[in-house]
Amino acid sequence: MSDLLPSSESVAALVAQFETELAAATSARDAQSVRDRYLGRKSSVVSSWMQMISAAPPDQKKSIGRFANDLKQAIEARWAQHAEPARYAAPAGGIDITLPGRRPALGHRHPLTIVRDDLEATFTRMGFTVVEGPEAEDDWHCFDALNMPPEHPARDMQDTLYLATPIKGESGRVDDLRTLLRTHTSSIQIRHMQAHQPPIRIVAPGRVYRRDDLDLTHTPAFGQIEALVVGEGISLADLKGTLLAFARQMFSPTVRVRFRPSFFPYTEPSAEIDLSCWRCSGAGCGMCKKTGWIEIGGCGMVHPAVFEAVGYDAEKYTGFAWGIGIERVAILRYQVEDIRLFYENDLRFLEQFPY
Ligand SMILES: [Zn+2]
Repeated sequence: MSDLLPSSESVAALVAQFETELAAATSARDAQSVRDRYLGRKSSVVSSWMQMISAAPPDQKKSIGRFANDLKQAIEARWAQHAEPARYAAPAGGIDITLPGRRPALGHRHPLTIVRDDLEATFTRMGFTVVEGPEAEDDWHCFDALNMPPEHPARDMQDTLYLATPIKGESGRVDDLRTLLRTHTSSIQIRHMQAHQPPIRIVAPGRVYRRDDLDLTHTPAFGQIEALVVGEGISLADLKGTLLAFARQMFSPTVRVRFRPSFFPYTEPSAEIDLSCWRCSGAGCGMCKKTGWIEIGGCGMVHPAVFEAVGYDAEKYTGFAWGIGIERVAILRYQVEDIRLFYENDLRFLEQFPY
């Protein structure tokens, strides 16, 4: 046994041998098997020295123990230096583990979803609650409750997609409660007001349907987002202030708002919303068609007839609403000239948008 007594030279010799074998390894797998031969838990160089400690005569236990530990630490240290990842270049025909991996193609949000999410986030920051409602709606929620009586032209078959054929009653009018695809998200506001008492501060996004042919600027289904605020003492000034705060967060911090008188059955007074062009600051450019202003949607003070329809006291409460088209915002933001591009699912188009 005494000739087995190891010395510090033996440690150096074994480490040198380990290094030689490691240097000859041509792959990470080879290197790992060299490492296992020296440091493996069972039947490795180090483990057999460890086992020898218990078998050694008492006067040799200490020196064998020290040797085994020194050897283990030296080889572990050498292995730690060696085992950096980009060590092995590809052997011919093998796998080059130093190559960057191929990223799997990840999907990302559709540009219209990006815009809708941004709109919702802006409203949410301003304290609005996002509310949704059914796309298949009845005509009371879509029209009657919004001050659009049965003879209203928007209810015409030419404009609205009915899911069931309207039946003319004895009065010669189309009977109530026909199902249709909602023509605006205002129906969500009606449902919300029926279920909640003021104060109300909601935003209703969603897809709406019109009987339109698909062309550069029209589509039979498109996204809309409508804001509604109801409470005591809500005024036109609140509408303009809230709208301005919204537009400055959504489009540009210096944007200005202009109202042009308009007409909607469910608001009085009503206005078209123009924003000062955030691209040219009002000087006139292609985006604003040289006018300096961009039409973005419609707004107004909620008509008392709408409050009466949902059972609110129209003497006590006032409110405002505005609606904007999601595609309209996307077209402006991304300078897309043909609305159809948003629906064709052409990856060459969709991949241009930031995640
Ligand atoms: Zn402009």
